[in-house]
Amino acid sequence: MNRAMDINQLVRQNVRELTPYQSARRIGGKGDVWLNANESAIALHFELTMQTLNRYPEPQPEQVIERYARYAGVRADQVIVSRGADEAIELLMRAFCEPGRDRIIYCPPTYGMYLVSAQTLGIGYKAIVQMNNWQLDLTAIEQNLTDTKLIYICSPNNPTGNVLNPDDIKTLLDMAWGSALVVVDEAYIEFAMEHSVVSWLANYPHLVILRTLSKAFSLAGLRCGFALANKPVIDVLQKVIAPYPLPTPVADIAAQALSKENLTKMTLQVVNLNKQKAHLITALKQFSLVDAIYPSYANYILVKFNDQGVFKYLWNQGIILRDQSKQPNLANCIRITIGSQAECDAVINALKTLNDQGN
Ligand SMILES: *Cc1c(COP(=O)(O)O)cnc(C)c1O
Repeated sequence: MNRAMDINQLVRQNVRELTPYQSARRIGGKGDVWLNANESAIALHFELTMQTLNRYPEPQPEQVIERYARYAGVRADQVIVSRGADEAIELLMRAFCEPGRDRIIYCPPTYGMYLVSAQTLGIGYKAIVQMNNWQLDLTAIEQNLTDTKLIYICSPNNPTGNVLNPDDIKTLLDMAWGSALVVVDEAYIEFAMEHSVVSWLANYPHLVILRTLSKAFSLAGLRCGFALANKPVIDVLQKVIAPYPLPTPVADIAAQALSKENLTKMTLQVVNLNKQKAHLITALKQFSLVDAIYPSYANYILVKFNDQGVFKYLWNQGIILRDQSKQPNLANCIRITIGSQAECDAVINALKTLNDQGN
């Protein structure tokens, strides 16, 4: 059994060439201040109500679907629940894009999984970089609609924190009518609820909205997300999703997280987090090290520094943030998740030291 074998030769070409998604956990780091994955600093506690696991779970747990539908203001047949919003991103490609022929459009700087999912599945992709004000370049999108089946946009956008102009989203929907679906990733919408386009489902059969329990709901470890769309789209996604996508304990906890009482708690936490965000922004504004703090409608802020060493400096102190400098037009930009008061203060104190050294 000592003949050499190169397993890589057997791997699909697109997978061989793939750079996997650089998730916060994959990048690693050592420290005690973790502000690199837009997680919540609040750890909720749940008790399982379903204690036996000998049976398969409900494919689409009714209570979760009903509660999420009520919360989002849609009908139950307009909801599909998935293993995080990430799974929904991929389900759409699996259902709508012909490998080797169709492609997706995505608009960087933005969330990395649209590209990675397309590359994993061997589907084409076209990056239409956002304009300087971080709004959609509609002219360029229109010129690239050929063979495009899915257009992924993100609002509030990760990592820039801005929301997209509603008129632009409408123009995009009109542009794509009959040829592509428009997927609006609303992973952070709880921090800017009035900007949701969920009510537009009534008018746009090709609109899809992605949601998650990972951010405002403080349940990143649960892996539970949703796609909202009209029934014909949901029915197609039901065809390609795994038979039992949600483990029984996940469905159990998701249903609890969506109870009336817990929804109220979540809303209060959003208010607190926005206060924490304002506190952090006020403190950072005093530092000459800081070039710009961009307006944020989410649980993170994007900060541009005039010193390239800030990320590494904080990293070495055990303060782990998310470097964004490789994204288009984001040189020297770092994304900082809004953590607890203590975590935010750790960032402020470390930056103050660095800033004072520079002066
Ligand atoms: C965090 C995030 C997701 C993934 O959410 P999960 O439900 O944890 O898979 C999707 N889109 C954006 C923009 C995100 O920031």
